[in-house]
Amino acid sequence: MPAPSDNPSDGRPNAGVASRTQEDKRSLSRSSQIPYMEADTPPERITRGAMREEFPAHTRDVLAKRVASQCSNPGCRQRTSGPHDDPNRAINVGVAAHITAASPGGPRYDPALSPKERRSPENGIWLCQTCSKLVDSDESRYSLESLRAWKRIAEAMARGEIEQRRELTSEATPRFMKAEQLVRGLLMEMRTDLAENPLAREFVVLKRAWSYSSSGPVLVYYLDDHPELENKLRILQNLGLIQDNTFTNVKRFVMTEELADYLVATNPGPPGGC
Ligand SMILES: [Zn+2]
Repeated sequence: MPAPSDNPSDGRPNAGVASRTQEDKRSLSRSSQIPYMEADTPPERITRGAMREEFPAHTRDVLAKRVASQCSNPGCRQRTSGPHDDPNRAINVGVAAHITAASPGGPRYDPALSPKERRSPENGIWLCQTCSKLVDSDESRYSLESLRAWKRIAEAMARGEIEQRRELTSEATPRFMKAEQLVRGLLMEMRTDLAENPLAREFVVLKRAWSYSSSGPVLVYYLDDHPELENKLRILQNLGLIQDNTFTNVKRFVMTEELADYLVATNPGPPGGC
């Protein structure tokens, strides 16, 4: 379940973050971790005695800023902050929602996570209030993997805007979402390959038993590693993300620049990176 953000740095006169000491900031952060239950939480969601692992204020702030304060649902993209009538204040209508629930019985709850992991930024996604209710109302439709893909794409779009690269547009995201749902494992391998070979675009499709030699930076994907690889490549082709470039008896494809940009922008990078 999401918790409304009460970002302490929203410009309210009493926030006074700039003048606070480090100790003040720490106590502010601690007080924000008091478990909070929304007034309209359905009764079945309230697990008696269970500790909800709410996000600290700092984490909510980071989640909002990582997506430029826009809803991460690629079909929504609602802005979640703006000016208040009071010139000293800003309005926030965004929510730091849990990807896996904050307490047992909640949507997508993962008992394997530690309390610390449950309230870490990795387990959060920034959404508007409508979308935060939506994703918690239908767990099978809004799966763990769908929400992670939303987050990846929303962060990649925000990064692209900051770097003034606009390849990853709102119009393109439904195609990337579909690719993420249907050929996720292959996209993950392509991300790793592009990180090591940034200029590679061509790839061939082989069986491990075949011998093949090629000059230049040609990537290889094995039929043995990816079930139904040919069908997956057909999907990427239908989505306009790869082109068939076969000219021998070996299947050969080229990634579009749009796909390459998307894969680079959504590469989570080494653990601990930002
Ligand atoms: Zn939304």
